[in-house]
Amino acid sequence: MSVSRHVEPQDTLDAIDALVAEFPDLPHEVFVKEDLLRRGVWFTPAALQRGHTFARKAYFIFSFDHVPLAEMDAAVHEHAPEEIALEGGALGFRRVVVSVRLNPASPWLVDVAATGAVELRCGGERIAGVSFAPRPPWYGVQLADGTPITEVAPAIEWGYLLYLTVFRMCQYFGREEECQFCDINHNFRQQREAGNPYFAVKPVERLLEALDQVVASGGTPQAYTLTGGSITARVDGLDEVGFYLRYAEAIEARFPGRWLGKMVVQALPRPDVERIRRSGIRIYHPNYEVWDPALFRTLCPGKERYVGRAEWMRRILEAAEVFSPQGVIPNFVAGVEMAAEGGFRRPEDAWRSTGEGLDYFMSHGVVPRFTTWCPEPMSVLGAAHGPAPLRYHAGLLRVWRDTLMKHSLKAPPGYGEPGIGRAVFSVSSFMDVMDPATGVAVLPC
Ligand code: SF4
Repeated sequence: MSVSRHVEPQDTLDAIDALVAEFPDLPHEVFVKEDLLRRGVWFTPAALQRGHTFARKAYFIFSFDHVPLAEMDAAVHEHAPEEIALEGGALGFRRVVVSVRLNPASPWLVDVAATGAVELRCGGERIAGVSFAPRPPWYGVQLADGTPITEVAPAIEWGYLLYLTVFRMCQYFGREEECQFCDINHNFRQQREAGNPYFAVKPVERLLEALDQVVASGGTPQAYTLTGGSITARVDGLDEVGFYLRYAEAIEARFPGRWLGKMVVQALPRPDVERIRRSGIRIYHPNYEVWDPALFRTLCPGKERYVGRAEWMRRILEAAEVFSPQGVIPNFVAGVEMAAEGGFRRPEDAWRSTGEGLDYFMSHGVVPRFTTWCPEPMSVLGAAHGPAPLRYHAGLLRVWRDTLMKHSLKAPPGYGEPGIGRAVFSVSSFMDVMDPATGVAVLPC
């Protein structure tokens, strides 16, 4: 089934106006940000070729696009920025940082105005000024074996985070096992077919060489994330924890405590979690993706088969005893629960379900975070379904913020500052909707 990606600009603007009225307690900028995340954005060549330098989209793990590379204008996808910031304009936007998800049929267009300024438009409506993610000083470096450094150590979140995808595939393979919203294996294949330097496994020495270059460049990222697909068998003779640990141990041996280390791996048994903590990693992301038990089984069949939902959730709380609750930040994918077969039809029901999960974790001091789902057409779910309603995303932000306040918790560490105009987290607005006075949780040493 193919999904129409087209939507009328006026319908988009009307929907945002309705949300401004319904959710006056949320910054109005986040309605545009969430729509850009769920619907994507497009650029005119003029907007990309104004001679400014910026960080280009590095395809750091998934495609995060609405159209495969082969079906997009290369002049756009080869030059699109990793992130944009919206600011100013007739609506007086406070700065909000947005991850770029390309969609030629999006109602959102970045173009050059008559004044020469770059701006975001929706149909004929001028929304806000646009700046592109700054180019980190190490970009452009080639490593000794010729690999571009952006293949190894790209930065996101406006330069805050080094995103180190050390395994670009997942051993949950095929529709019987892979998470139904995920296109990691398909993105790997399309990048290789496009002739891009894109390697399944990163050699440890190549990663360390890249980080040497990051340091030598004077760049100032604050954190790194070690991530990649799940390992159910072996890679380089190592199981999942052994594989990802070799990178953490190498980084922390060469650059002890220089950056805040985070790791995305499965919900693992306690002895493995203790090994991760001992390596110097300070934040653990055992992502649970969706809370509803039946949807977890449908959307994450591999995780259900190898670990099981009940055990997954139990291990998240067990990990909080090892890392402290502040050091465990599981992700869920906002939107998939309304797209799946058997998913929720009304936002209210989805808010209730996800809110139950948030309350469960936050009552133990664990603060989940989320990524707004991009319906990637190479994923099982994205091939058949468009995004969740914008109103669902708005309400979810309110549920997350209110549950955080109910439990008197602070912003999760490792995402920069909270609050509209200050936040840099680009794949969801949860950091934007917080009161900056809430502060950021402190990790134990
Ligand atoms: S575990 Fe699921 S979400 Fe993670 S890479 Fe594998 S298929 Fe994708």
